[in-house]
Amino acid sequence: MVMKSLVLFLCLLPIFSASATWKSVESPHFRVYYQKGTTDPMSILQTAEDFYAEMPQLTDRMPAGMIDIWVCDTQKEFQASVHAPIQDWAVGCAFPLSRRIVIQNPKHIALAKLQFVQVLRHEIAHVLFGQCTRKAVKEIPLWFVEGIAIYFADEWVPSRHGTLLKHIFSKSILPLQELTRGFPRSQAGADLAYAESQDAVRWLIEVKGRDALFALIAELHAGNSFDTAFKTVVGWDLATFDVHWRESLTERYRWASLFSNSYFLWGGLGGLALLGYLVRRNRRQRHLNKLAQQEDTMDTFFRT
Ligand SMILES: [Zn+2]
Repeated sequence: MVMKSLVLFLCLLPIFSASATWKSVESPHFRVYYQKGTTDPMSILQTAEDFYAEMPQLTDRMPAGMIDIWVCDTQKEFQASVHAPIQDWAVGCAFPLSRRIVIQNPKHIALAKLQFVQVLRHEIAHVLFGQCTRKAVKEIPLWFVEGIAIYFADEWVPSRHGTLLKHIFSKSILPLQELTRGFPRSQAGADLAYAESQDAVRWLIEVKGRDALFALIAELHAGNSFDTAFKTVVGWDLATFDVHWRESLTERYRWASLFSNSYFLWGGLGGLALLGYLVRRNRRQRHLNKLAQQEDTMDTFFRT
């Protein structure tokens, strides 16, 4: 079995170091390739199967077959898959059409402040979505592909909210149209692209409903182009959605836009400073009162 896996590996992925001895374990829908002693493959299988079970709307539309998860222990092994169609944060990548994901060993991901479970679910979401929309997959905008993966993986990255606010604040939100084929190369640009993708898909679900999302996936599964499917289900073409979404940002984060006006910013900061002073004064007063009470109590004690 190990030999069979090794031969298969050598045929399919000659880019990986042939000297590494890969082992594999399987569950009904996943096969994990790993190097002995470097990770816990059973917990990876469990996380993968749990996520698979949450996604019947996607998995019911997929052709049968296993999804391969390669867990790389070194940066060098991981970088061998640098040409994957989908690259995420330099810790995970997905080949949706060949049902394969490559992921960094969990111990390295913990260092990158990203949760391994999140990365694993995110990459699997890419494969599930890619498999059930395979006829249209190559022309689906990247912001949508990433927004869907973030939504299904149920990711929570607190810094993304701050990133989005910062760019609403400085009026430097990128039009979704600029995130169609690729994301910016810089770390800050990529962070913004993920934050925008997450918000755009979440807003789409907020205004059109979760059913609309699955209706859109059904259209793509049936072989319709993304532009046609989007217009049919959402009622707007992509350019109109882009404009409405950016308008909604200022609407939804009105207080952040308010702060972008320097008069309000400094006025706001002055107000905050005053509020802080009053809170501190109140707290000091309460503290003094408490000390006075304690003194009374002690006096009573010593008096008796
Ligand atoms: Zn992704």
